[in-house]
Amino acid sequence: MNNLIIGSHVGFNKNEQLIASVKEAVSYNSNTFMFYTGAPQNTNRSEIDDFKTIEALNIMKDNGININNVIVHAPYIINLANPKNLDFSVDFLKQELARVDKLGVKYMVLHPGSHVSLGVDTGIDNIILGLNRVFENYTGNVVILLETMAGKGSEVGVNFFELKRIIDGVKYSNRLGVCLDTCHLNDSGYDISKFDQILDEFDNIIGIDKIKCVHVNDSKNILASHKDRHENIGLGTIGFDNLINVIYNERLMSIPKILETPYINGDYPPYKFEIEMIRNKKFNSNLVEDIINFYTK
Ligand code: FE
Ligand code: FE
Ligand code: ZN
Repeated sequence: MNNLIIGSHVGFNKNEQLIASVKEAVSYNSNTFMFYTGAPQNTNRSEIDDFKTIEALNIMKDNGININNVIVHAPYIINLANPKNLDFSVDFLKQELARVDKLGVKYMVLHPGSHVSLGVDTGIDNIILGLNRVFENYTGNVVILLETMAGKGSEVGVNFFELKRIIDGVKYSNRLGVCLDTCHLNDSGYDISKFDQILDEFDNIIGIDKIKCVHVNDSKNILASHKDRHENIGLGTIGFDNLINVIYNERLMSIPKILETPYINGDYPPYKFEIEMIRNKKFNSNLVEDIINFYTK
């Protein structure tokens, strides 16, 4: 028996906080989940209420969800690669770390940043500078996971060498890990049908034990398209079998897998049905119809 750790992106609202997130995850038959602590594009955040967190932890316990497998995604208004916004990004990231610590969550995924027009070397230098400032005097428990990026615009972190340079440059590299995103890997030029080779390469460059989370998404675009548009599991260019090979890869069995696939027609979350397919290891050719029927009946 494998012990698959799988979940999806879920909501987080200021009234119920983590309680609603857990309930949503449970409704998809997940045993983990990922959330933003507020809207990813703004800085409005509510005070974390410990009573709500305790209640959420009880619901997690009842449903076999280990808080150590739960992931927060840092807001994407943070851009450590851009020196113009560095003070804001550092400050807001520090506040996020404090919130994540208060929630008892261990891992926070972060997009390394976009260098705008400054070039990748300057971008990496700024990210290193920013992360060193963020972690200076930090006494919490959160590990920041740098996400592999698709290469849209001027994104930094589009290959393992760039991530390695960031990790090596940060004084507190024990505070850093990596989140692989299958859509982003595909779009940046890594062929997911050769996933074992990708893992070997990662292991040689960075070390496989740095992988702490995998975002499992199909892609709307072809290999090396540098687009970053997620597709539902089995409906994109990566395909069901290749994603199953990632999800059940022996070397990543203990690592949480998080779906960030699009809602059907923009309205209906696909996760319950995608997770069912993944657990069955069998593609459901009526996926879209089943989801629409479930939410409209
Ligand atoms: Fe992301
Ligand atoms: Fe992702
Ligand atoms: Zn993406």
